Amino acid sequence: MGKPTGFLDFERELPGKRDPKTRINDFKELFLDFDDKKTNQQAARCMDCGVPFCHTGCPLGNIIPEFNDAVYNENWGLAVEILQSTNNFPEFTGRICPAPCESACVLGINKPPVTIEFIEKTIVEKAFNLGLIKPNIPKYRTGKKVAIVGSGPSGLAAAAQLNKAGHTVIVFERSDRIGGLLRYGIPDFKLEKQYIDRRLEIMKAEGIVFKGNVNIGTDLPFYTLIHEVDAVVLCGGSTKPRNLKIKGRKLSGVHYAMDFLTQQNKRVAGDTINDDISITAEGKHVIVIGGGDTGSDCVGTSNRQKAKSVTQVELLAKPPFERSENDPWPKYPTILKTSTSHEEGVDRQWSILTKEFIGDENGDVKYLRIVDIKWDIGYSGKPEFKEIVGTERDLPCDLALLAIGFVHGETDIIREKTEIELDARGNIATNNYKTNIENVFAAGDMRRGQSLVVWAITEGREAAREVDKYLMKKKSKLEARDESQMNVNY
Ligand SMILES: Cc1cc2nc3c(=O)[nH]c(=O)nc-3n(C[C@H](O)[C@H](O)[C@H](O)COP(=O)(O)OP(=O)(O)OC[C@H]3O[C@@H](n4cnc5c(N)ncnc54)[C@H](O)[C@@H]3O)c2cc1C
Ligand code: SF4
Repeated sequence: MGKPTGFLDFERELPGKRDPKTRINDFKELFLDFDDKKTNQQAARCMDCGVPFCHTGCPLGNIIPEFNDAVYNENWGLAVEILQSTNNFPEFTGRICPAPCESACVLGINKPPVTIEFIEKTIVEKAFNLGLIKPNIPKYRTGKKVAIVGSGPSGLAAAAQLNKAGHTVIVFERSDRIGGLLRYGIPDFKLEKQYIDRRLEIMKAEGIVFKGNVNIGTDLPFYTLIHEVDAVVLCGGSTKPRNLKIKGRKLSGVHYAMDFLTQQNKRVAGDTINDDISITAEGKHVIVIGGGDTGSDCVGTSNRQKAKSVTQVELLAKPPFERSENDPWPKYPTILKTSTSHEEGVDRQWSILTKEFIGDENGDVKYLRIVDIKWDIGYSGKPEFKEIVGTERDLPCDLALLAIGFVHGETDIIREKTEIELDARGNIATNNYKTNIENVFAAGDMRRGQSLVVWAITEGREAAREVDKYLMKKKSKLEARDESQMNVNY
């Protein structure tokens, strides 16, 4: 442990952010530089506890106290070695992970937790700047060929691990660019795409082949693929949006959040969106329906597109500011989260039922009719809501963005022509990441439903280990955590 009294000597501190008024004029990242000395002090706050709960808080099992110690001692080589032993892409998680490790940090019981996510980002960026992260080309090849379907974080992690084990890896992606939701979901102000490109260059140099614009199931039949390679890993994600079946849904100006967000990411990448399909918030009263992270990304994007007003409505009640008694440490807490997008300006409303979209004579949406609701525990013992009489009202609405979740994994195309089994939620069913088809495995959101980047990387690594065992008919040497250690779900 670096400094035994660090947690007493230093307060939690994070880098400052650009002024919201300025930052909404571009799509660049928000955080300002941070002094090296301060980073060193933040790492010194780690107490090196007897039982570091942060390990189990992090789905990847990142070895946090050890990398904190290396940072404190300014040993960046060791820090990045420790970090990359469990996490293929700390440059992504260090920016956009909700950091369940910090909720489980022991210091967090009575003080603000260690700034683990920020330290992770600092390690990987230092390592890139110092030239410590280079292509690591496998010394031998097994002669086995693996196809990965989907290039999101789960597919990329599986590809990196299987390539490391010496297999020949091809990643197929139906979109024009590689990266899954990292590329075409998460806005640039949270994750600039240069970081994906930087990592892809390394992966390509290591021998991984990426093929964009190939939709497995239509451009290349699934059965052809599984007969051409030794194993397939399905990492197609879960981006089928949940619909809001209320009156007026078909009016012009009511869109799925993902269509809106993807278009903006494409614009930032330099693409032109045709006028007939272009969705923008400029000069409009925008209502984002859904209070989660996708909704928050719509708020940030709408403000950058210069919306006239932005309102975010949520069916559930406003969460508490602090952990309740039923939500104890080290669980990931259900508390009010104010994202950087919220800081930039939005009217957030909770306990709202959306009743109807109201349009004008041209078929354009003009209002959203809502009503306040009250949540209580019903006779069934489950939470139920009742409308509050007299609270029905119409909010001005020129653009409505539906951000109310995703139904299940992208299974349709694969399922159409195969006997692949699904679980009760419509995701791909697996046993230790293996599907019911002999050489086919699945990982990430396609297997577990819409989740988090850290879980996608974890699943990609674990699936890779199972594929390696299957191909080599022996114990895999790939590092990944045992399923039995996974006792936390987000
Ligand atoms: C708007 C938004 C914001 C988010 N923000 C965060 C965040 O801040 N932090 C966080 O941790 N998580 C966030 N998430 C969740 C996170 O992005 C996902 O959990 C993660 O990307 C899942 O990774 P994946 O590899 O399983 O799937 P995806 O990233 O969805 O990638 C799947 C890929 O497979 C491709 N594909 C599908 N079918 C085929 C086919 N038949 N042939 C070829 N290719 C195919 C798709 O085009 C896609 O590129 C966010 C999600 C959304 C929607
Ligand atoms: S990946 Fe996420 S949970 Fe794991 S150490 Fe990093 S910030 Fe924490």
